[in-house]
Amino acid sequence: MTDSATDQSRGRSAGNTHLPWHSLPADAALEHFRSSADGLSSAEAARRLDEHGPNRLATPSRRGPVVRFLLQFHNVLIYVLLAAATVTALLGHWVDTAVIFGVALINSVIGFVQEGKAERALEAIRRMLSLHAFVRRDGQRREIAAEELVPGDIVLLASGDKVPADLRLIEVRSLRLEEAVLTGESVPAEKHARPVGADAVVGDRACIAHSGTLVTYGQAAGIVVATGNVTEIGRISELMAEVERLSTPLTRKMAIFARWLTAAILVFATFTFVFGVILRGYALADMFMAAVSLAVAAIPEGLPAILTITLAIGVQRMAGRNAIIRQLPAVETLGSVTVICSDKTGTLTRNEMTVQHVVAGTLEYDIDGSGYAPYGAINHAGSEIDLPQETVTQHAAFQQLARAALLCNDAELRHQAGTWTLVGDPTEGALLTLALKAGLDGESEVRTFPRTDLIPFESEHRFMASLHHDHKGNAFVYVKGAPERLLDMCNAQLTYDRPAPLDRPYWEAEIERLAAQGERVLALASRSFDATSRTLTFADVETGLTLLGIVGIIDPPRSEAIEAVANCRAAGIRVKMITGDHIGTAQAIGRQLGIGLDSRPVSGREIEQLDDDALRELVATTDVFARSSPEHKLRLVQALQANGEVVAMTGDGVNDAPALKRADVGIAMGIKGTEAAKEASEMVLADDNFASIARAVEEGRTVYDNLKKSIMFLLPMNGGESGALIAAILLGTVLPITPVQILWVNMISSVALALALAFEPTEPDVMRRPPRAASEPILSGFLLWRVALVSSLFVAGIFGMFEYTLASGGTLEEARTVAVNTLVAMEIFYLFSVRYLVNTSFTFTGIKGTPAVLIAIALVLVLQAFFTFAPVMGTLFESRPLDFVQLAQITLVGASVFVALEIEKGLRRRLGFGAVARYVQHAR
Ligand code: ADP
Ligand code: MG
Repeated sequence: MTDSATDQSRGRSAGNTHLPWHSLPADAALEHFRSSADGLSSAEAARRLDEHGPNRLATPSRRGPVVRFLLQFHNVLIYVLLAAATVTALLGHWVDTAVIFGVALINSVIGFVQEGKAERALEAIRRMLSLHAFVRRDGQRREIAAEELVPGDIVLLASGDKVPADLRLIEVRSLRLEEAVLTGESVPAEKHARPVGADAVVGDRACIAHSGTLVTYGQAAGIVVATGNVTEIGRISELMAEVERLSTPLTRKMAIFARWLTAAILVFATFTFVFGVILRGYALADMFMAAVSLAVAAIPEGLPAILTITLAIGVQRMAGRNAIIRQLPAVETLGSVTVICSDKTGTLTRNEMTVQHVVAGTLEYDIDGSGYAPYGAINHAGSEIDLPQETVTQHAAFQQLARAALLCNDAELRHQAGTWTLVGDPTEGALLTLALKAGLDGESEVRTFPRTDLIPFESEHRFMASLHHDHKGNAFVYVKGAPERLLDMCNAQLTYDRPAPLDRPYWEAEIERLAAQGERVLALASRSFDATSRTLTFADVETGLTLLGIVGIIDPPRSEAIEAVANCRAAGIRVKMITGDHIGTAQAIGRQLGIGLDSRPVSGREIEQLDDDALRELVATTDVFARSSPEHKLRLVQALQANGEVVAMTGDGVNDAPALKRADVGIAMGIKGTEAAKEASEMVLADDNFASIARAVEEGRTVYDNLKKSIMFLLPMNGGESGALIAAILLGTVLPITPVQILWVNMISSVALALALAFEPTEPDVMRRPPRAASEPILSGFLLWRVALVSSLFVAGIFGMFEYTLASGGTLEEARTVAVNTLVAMEIFYLFSVRYLVNTSFTFTGIKGTPAVLIAIALVLVLQAFFTFAPVMGTLFESRPLDFVQLAQITLVGASVFVALEIEKGLRRRLGFGAVARYVQHAR
């Protein structure tokens, strides 16, 4: 993996960094690593990256290719084959021995290659989830890949982050870390920047933020003191060396099923052997070969491998559609989801926010322009006003509001090549743009009113406050947030430019008016502050604020989300919107999306007043939840689950983690989601878009369908082959197919054809069916019946053609060649049939197949031609060339399987029973 040079340098840095940083002052670390609060320069960081190597844990030693290849031989079928090869060798049947060995080898190579492919698919997905970190470099805040961190870097932590390296904390603002990965303690630990005793154990090192732990609250800055394997987690990383296996409940169940079946078949084959020798008086050697062929024919050995590859391809396909699966069982669960609870902002809406209305000093303003470009007129009473030059004090409240919007703000607008891009929260971006439109100069404002403290925005308290000191000895607090919240904090307002008592009813009506248009409403307020104090607490902003005004921000629904919501409805899935926004805004946006049309929206406060039973009743009919916080989400999931729903829930914040964990499918936002949310979820949305959830459900259903199709394709094959052999043994006739011929069909033709099913596209009606019941067994009565039916068709085909060829004067070898080709022909036609389990395959798309299907068939046809006509195959497999009439007959028999199954499908549809009935009913 890593070359020894970097290992050595890591060793060197280990020696370097193993000072007890927790017992030293932060400055000591800064000095030691020749760093400062401004961080390293990029050049120095690059140099250190060379010296210390990337900040990642050495991947747990994987099994090497040789071991992986040898492990391919570690399965029952191969053991059976090797035993058979030994016996045939002892009997002097060298050709058979060679063929058996050859097939065992080829099969292992195929398994090896497939496994590698599946592993790579997973690896690619792991990479998509790689960690980012915020650092200070060259005196600027930057986002970099966590792998690029070096000792001495200054890392900025915020709530929801995963700590990317071991940090000695420098500045701490109520930081709490969940350190369960290291200490097993799930209660978050309080952190500070003061040194602790040298003998403190990991859990007590309060001034160290350890790599891999999660920030549950607060903010901090720290200096990197250890990276990669030198970190605390790196040293115990063997404990975390769990490699995720490529499996889901379905594939696991099938693997167990296959194992049991194998055992049963081995018993049965032994029994047949004894039966044949004693009761039928077959020769020992013949009977042994018959028993081996029976085992080979009946053991569904290809099944687990095919299912694994189908799953891997499905997961890869989902990633291509922006749904990154973190936990594979979610692929299946997605198909049975009955309710999706989605965030509004950014998921259902575009998250491109623009302020459209402002009410300040009791005057109304309309703002022109769209996006974050700070161009657009500010209109009052129908005409444009010019704020900066305005001497009339009438608009003073607006100016103050603009200043509050700019200062109480963490977003940044960048102007590059004529486009304005936002770094930070879109709500804040909209406010920044508003301030610039009002003529404020960002840089000079920040210089004139430097920020001395901050209460960051959190969804629970729904406001943000910042403290500023100017250079004349004055201090101000600016607060912005949800308007109801701010009204509670204010006792005064600006009327024009004059302070006046708060006119609450007036503001409530204004808020209502903006919200009803679907606008996100924020209020802004300020107060003067004790100039000597440099810290801001909640108590400082709870009362005594002066309301400057409110702003209405539009955030239009995503057009694709509207479609996706409709698709979900057709698929029997209910979409619920959960938002922290105002109830009026939520309702208006919900209407545009088609959510909650037939129920009234409910607020978080109402949820709080309900007990669990009442909540269960409420969630059955309510689709829009407004002013709700993360704790409400958890209760909502629980209530829905108590109602028997299978729930998918989106989330982004650290406080969403419990709800995400609890949901059947937790879905974290890839862009704005925190690491804590991702860690708690089964799936990550790369584009934060609701439409991707709907597509993931569609893909999830498709993957499940394809797994089912692979099973349905392979099982009758085993059933048909072994059925034909058992019939021959019971009837006391010669075997219609020899063991090596069965090997050929099972390990070459069947595998090639079954693999094509992994690439099956989505069936058109996938999103018009109801969700699959979570309790539905894999092999429902319908599917069992189908397996039995197809198996019997195969038996009849093999046996019929074999006997027919013998009866019409063919040699035994010829008859067997016909039997083998008939079997393969039936497989090919069955492949077309199984592509649509319920629906007819007899459509243009159905007949046309897919590239994968056509390639597989072409391959199998070439192989069969080779098998039938090549003299060398004649020697190896005792095959004989066939004539045109025979080939035509074989094709006809193959086609008859397709016809028979189409008739069966048609009858089912007509009579409307079983699985079809359910589909049809719900498809209405
Ligand atoms: P959503 O579910 O729509 O994402 P949030 O929890 O982000 O809701 O926001 C809830 C409310 O908090 C918003 O309606 C707004 O009034 C207020 N708010 C949102 N972002 C900020 C912010 N950066 N600063 C202050 N208040 C905010
Ligand atoms: Mg939000």
